[in-house]
Parts: sequence; structure tokens; C-alpha cells
Amino acid sequence: MDTDTEARSTQHEVVVIIGGGFGGLHVAKSLRRSSASIVLVDRRNYHLFQPLLYQVATAELEPANIAAPIREILHKQGNATVALGEVTSVDLENKLVQFDGGKIDYDYLVIASGLRQSYFGHDEFRAHAPGLKSIDDALEIRRRLLLAFEEAEWEADEQARRAKLTFVVVGGGPTGVELAGAIKDVASDILPTEFRNIRKDTAHVIIVDAGPRLVLAMPEDLGERARRVLEKMGVEIRQNVCVTDVTDGGVQIGDDFIAAENVFWAAGVQGQEWVKSLGVELDGCGRVFVGPDMAIPGHKNVFVVGDAAHAIDAKTGKPVPGLAQGAIQTGNFVAAIIRRELDGTNGRQRPAFHYHDKGSMAIIGRGNAIAAIGKRHFGGFFGWLTWCFVHVMFLVGFGNKLLVMADWFWNLIRRKRSARLITGDPEVHVKRLRA
Ligand SMILES: Cc1cc2nc3c(=O)[nH]c(=O)nc-3n(C[C@H](O)[C@H](O)[C@H](O)COP(=O)(O)OP(=O)(O)OC[C@H]3O[C@@H](n4cnc5c(N)ncnc54)[C@H](O)[C@@H]3O)c2cc1C
Repeated sequence: MDTDTEARSTQHEVVVIIGGGFGGLHVAKSLRRSSASIVLVDRRNYHLFQPLLYQVATAELEPANIAAPIREILHKQGNATVALGEVTSVDLENKLVQFDGGKIDYDYLVIASGLRQSYFGHDEFRAHAPGLKSIDDALEIRRRLLLAFEEAEWEADEQARRAKLTFVVVGGGPTGVELAGAIKDVASDILPTEFRNIRKDTAHVIIVDAGPRLVLAMPEDLGERARRVLEKMGVEIRQNVCVTDVTDGGVQIGDDFIAAENVFWAAGVQGQEWVKSLGVELDGCGRVFVGPDMAIPGHKNVFVVGDAAHAIDAKTGKPVPGLAQGAIQTGNFVAAIIRRELDGTNGRQRPAFHYHDKGSMAIIGRGNAIAAIGKRHFGGFFGWLTWCFVHVMFLVGFGNKLLVMADWFWNLIRRKRSARLITGDPEVHVKRLRA
């Protein structure tokens, strides 16, 4: 595919965007009235709403309800072209993006490729402990969760059955807390009603976390609230402990071994491998250091937005958080710079990025959430309603918004989970991730 020729033939400046997540999509959409030719490259053909992945993993939502095809999102935007492919390197000197479908020259480049799961140097854990960064991850977790019940139903030995229904979530951040709460809900209240040999108290959910308290990125009182609610639900929480090994049979924490056949990884992220090809300075997580204008120092036409950037808020001096809002705001900010420069209306120095903190929130079990919005910290059912409202608002696609709300309502009143297909590897008893 010669995207280069196609884009160049228009004689417009070419803006290449790597990644169609929150950051990349907002850059593309904000440039809809600009004179630029935009090429958005993504290895997936869909934009994924990651905050709802845990609900796919726990059979609450279907995968298609939290994703939207990138082509469909941009089909009315005449100046945007989509390329499906995996970027493998970027040659900053020659302004060239190499992806597995070809090469693209650029005038401006926006890197919005997000982050991937980190196992802190123990990639061998991955086979036993899937993370939660993609639809495939979520479906693998769902498969393991549902299979655990099928296997436990016919397991005669009480201890072995218990190990099959012990779920360890590694990481006590928002993702770990949301996943653990939802697993507990499904494993203790919903699924046992359909099995003959599994009691409501057989399943055991444990959060293992290296930090001193849950959801460290949120205010302390909310972390404490999350702990109280989860413990009341029956989730065991082990703080200040590090996982030293993960096997098919369980998790090693120092001298302590937890027998658990289901381990899920919600700890740590790292930069995409290809980013190293840039040859620029990266932080310890593999994020690209950017200046106040979100451009890579020394490469003024190359910006990094969203999770992939190590950016500092120009007003507060604090790091820009790895949240959807961080990606949306940096995406819009960079698009505004490019638009002004293309129009020739920049006339002054580039502005410096300032993050508008719109708050943070996390679900903790059914009908319960914690939220920090401005100076207000709250939780419970009101927190949950706020969480639902905010997440539906940012979900892409009107159809998805309706379907998700309908599923939530239906599942809430029926106390069931409908997205319960065990899919994936036909050898369903081999708990293996796809390579
Ligand atoms: C489970 C989970 C729950 C979360 N919950 C919340 C929440 O409740 N609230 C919140 O604000 N934030 C939440 N986040 C964080 C939020 O989703 C991210 O901050 C946000 O998605 C970052 O957007 P981004 O555009 O930088 O990257 P992403 O959304 O990760 O998008 C990156 C895109 O780049 C593409 N890509 C990557 N590498 C390549 C390559 N080599 N070639 C081509 N394409 C590539 C990917 O396919 C992807 O489409 C959550 C994240 C996770 C994983």
C-alpha cells in the first residue's frame, strides 16, 4: 500500500497519527477543518474504551459495545485516511513512519500509541496471569473465570475446588479494584445460583498489592473507603507484598504461596516496544519525554500525546496523569498548535500544556463507586450513578451508549450476566494465551 503517494498527491501537509485511542482520535477530529491531510495508523481497526474492559472480562458487556470502528468514526471527515497496520519504527531524520503495510512520509507526526502491560521484567508471568489492556485480554479473563466454575462444578476434592475458585488480582489500583469487585460479585452472588455443587461462599477473591493502600492515585480517604467496601463484600486484601512468582497453581509472595488457578494482572504499564526506535529520551516506564508544547525536544514537528508521553503540567509542575482526560486534552492541545501553524496564524510562541483535572473515579462492586471531583470526595450509590453517567458520556457511538445502558439496567434488575460465552482456543481446558 503506498499511502505516501496517495497523501502527497493532495499537496497538503501530511499529519500522521499513530494510534486511534483517546489521544489520537481527538487529534484527528480536532483537525477536521484544517487544510492538512491526516493519516491515522492503528494496528486495530477499532477505537477501544478501556475503562469498561473489566466489564467485558466479567461477562457484563459484549466486546463490541465498548469499541467502535475507526473508519466509521472518521468516515465523514474528508481529510482523514485510515491505515490498518502496526508501526514498527519511525525515522525522525527522514520524517518517515514504517508500518507493516508500508511507509508514510509526514510533515507533522503525532505519537498516540499508549502503553502496554508491564510484568516488571517477568514476562513469563503473562501465560499464567493475563493483563487487562485489550479486548483479547478481557476475553481471556472471561474465559478463565467462566471455565473455573465449569471445572469446579465437577471437582470432587474440596481443596482442589477451592483453588479453582480462588481468584488473585495483582495490583490494587483502579483497574485491580474494579476487576476484583466485579469478580467477587459474579463469583459469589451471580454464578453459584446456576451450579449445583458450588456454594455462594466457595469463591475467594484476593487483591495482592505492593503499595501501602488501595488506589494510590486517588485521595487517601477514598482508598480507605474502597478497602472497607471490598472487605465487607468478602474480598481479601494483602498490602505491602510483592509477587515473586506466578505458576499454573498459584502465586508466590515471599515465603507465602496462595493456591489459586486464576491470577489476573492489573499492575504496571510500560511503553510500546517500537518507541525505542525513535532514539530519544524515555523515562523508566518507556514513555517519551516531551516539552511544554508536547513536542519531543529537538523535533518540533513530532508530538506525543496521551499515555505514551511523559509530560509535565506547565502550571502545577505535576506529571500529566495517564487517564482518558489526559489523552483527550493533550490531543486537542496538539491539534490546536498544528492547526494554527498550518493556517499561519500562530504568530507567537507555542503555548504550554496545562491539565484540567476533571476528577477521577473507580467502581467498587455493584452499585458502589468512589469519586474525587474537585475538592469533593464521595462514594456509594451516588458515586456509582456519577461513574455511569461519565462513562456513558465518553463512550464513542450513540448505539454503544444505548446498548451499554440497556445491559447495565437489564443485568441490575435480573441479577444475571448475559455475555457468558466461553470463546477462544478450542482446546478450552488448556489455559494458554495466544502468542
Ligand atoms: C483496564 C483499564 C481501565 C481504565 N480505566 C480508566 C478510567 O476509569 N478512567 C480514565 O480516565 N482512564 C482509565 N484508563 C486509562 C485510559 O484508558 C488511558 O489513559 C487512555 O486510553 C490513553 O489513551 P491513549 O490514546 O494515550 O492510548 P490508548 O487508548 O491506549 O490507544 C493507543 C492506540 O494505539 C494503538 N497502537 C499501539 N501501538 C501501536 C503500533 N505499534 N502501531 C499502530 N497502532 C498502535 C493501539 O491499538 C491503540 O488503539 C484505563 C485503562 C485501562 C487499561
